[in-house]
Amino acid sequence: MKYIFVTGGVVSSLGKGLAAASIGTLLEHRGLKVLMQKFDPYLNVDPGTMSPYQHGEVYVLDDGAETDLDLGHYERFTSGVLSRMNNLTSGQVFDSVIRKERRGEYLGKTVQFIPHVTDEIKARIHEVAEKNPDVDVLITEIGGTVGDMEGLLFLEALRQYALEVGKENVCFIHVTLLPYIKAAGEAKTKPTQQSVAKLREIGIQPDIIICRTETDLDEDNRRKIAMFCNVERKNVVAFRDVDHSIYECPLDLRRDKIDRLVVDKIGLGHTPSPALESWERFVQRVIHPKHKVTIAVAGKYIELQDAYKSIYESLIHAGAHHDTKVHVVRVDTEEIEDKGAREVIGMVDGILVPGGFGDRGTEGKILAAKYAREKRIPYFGICLGMQIATIEFARNVCGLKGANSTEFDKATPHPVICLQEEQKGVEDMGATMRLGASQAILFAGTRAAQLYDNAERIQERHRHRYEFNSDYQERLQEKGLVISSVSADEGLVEIVELPDHPFYIGAQFHPEFQSKPNHPHPLFSGFVAAALEHAQREG
Ligand code: GLN
Repeated sequence: MKYIFVTGGVVSSLGKGLAAASIGTLLEHRGLKVLMQKFDPYLNVDPGTMSPYQHGEVYVLDDGAETDLDLGHYERFTSGVLSRMNNLTSGQVFDSVIRKERRGEYLGKTVQFIPHVTDEIKARIHEVAEKNPDVDVLITEIGGTVGDMEGLLFLEALRQYALEVGKENVCFIHVTLLPYIKAAGEAKTKPTQQSVAKLREIGIQPDIIICRTETDLDEDNRRKIAMFCNVERKNVVAFRDVDHSIYECPLDLRRDKIDRLVVDKIGLGHTPSPALESWERFVQRVIHPKHKVTIAVAGKYIELQDAYKSIYESLIHAGAHHDTKVHVVRVDTEEIEDKGAREVIGMVDGILVPGGFGDRGTEGKILAAKYAREKRIPYFGICLGMQIATIEFARNVCGLKGANSTEFDKATPHPVICLQEEQKGVEDMGATMRLGASQAILFAGTRAAQLYDNAERIQERHRHRYEFNSDYQERLQEKGLVISSVSADEGLVEIVELPDHPFYIGAQFHPEFQSKPNHPHPLFSGFVAAALEHAQREG
């Protein structure tokens, strides 16, 4: 196996994850089998317990791992199948070392950062390599910025690892920033030089330097960076701000032929140039669509760029499929509570209520769902958004006054959404939700089944504690709520829909974790199509 290690310098939020994912895309289009992973130096065991304010979205894998949102980029940009093995945190590393120490596995030795912690990190890379013998290239991105104390052990482990597997099998890529200084009228290379110096101090000489620039990388700066960072000039690569879409990133990096530089370094130079036509076509559809729809995403972390990352990406995928630009209006549902739904979301072609926890803004979400139902605006509820649709229907169509989820009102007279028995005694908050992929049965003749191309079974990813309360199933069905899917094992409600409505669907699972650029998720695709019809009707 060959290895690519991607580090970052100067500042965070450079798009290191996107750069890594884009390299994955390019290598895959050269016919290589790629697997991606992320090492995060923070002490949380996983990001599952972190607030979106800290961390953005928590991305859930098939096996139920709650991971960094960069794994979402990896799954969207490459086809490698990821598991909990592909997101290692310092929390996991230390947890494992301390457990081993308690079990006496270190045989009386003093347990130390080096070698015991670094060995633990290397062991993970070995394990991933061994479990995936068919993979040609393993790309590992290291979270954080070079120079952070907490990342040091990871970098030291990589340095050792490269030595052990042979430097000819490893490519170190460092992503840095070239800040543009207005007063000087030029982009500066000093921060890059300093951050590469930091890397070299700990024994890592990058093979390729990716320079994030607002504009372009001129020859003079390329020469300077090459000279002072000890790399060949051609190995200094520009990573420009893309104009329209993150899916342009692989095409941008291809301009300096980064994939060629990588394969030459790791002895895979015989692979053909990447065939990027279908990716390019997708990007063209994203950038120059024929139609336009406006969709409100009505949640509580609306001001955060990354809190609903996968949902925004899924809307882009579905939009491209329908040659449509999806203009997203981010709506804080507390505003709907204050001003009313018509004022805030009266102009949109579709309303999407995403997942969420805690009761802030839920009444506003219920108002949004009601507005969508009554005004026949396409509605798509995801996880909490499905629970909201159920509560709204129970209250306003079935007349169940005060119906609610026990998450928001423990004493509700009508707990239409409640905890399952096995969730009742749970005290640990980490990794104890219903998590990961499971199978569900689709009922023929429903809108959902039609969208899934009449599949009988589907597999979708979950991340929630509360469920549709089966005690209320009949009462809601009598009034017209259709249950279009239930879980294959326990019969838990997975999808609800309203038949006499242009599009009104709530899914208990998270379809946004399985949408890909050229394969939009069927529910997103159906939602955007319905929104487009709405726009054309209204317009
Ligand atoms: N808070 C809800 C639950 O735990 C919904 C979770 C979600 O939307 N991811 O069931």
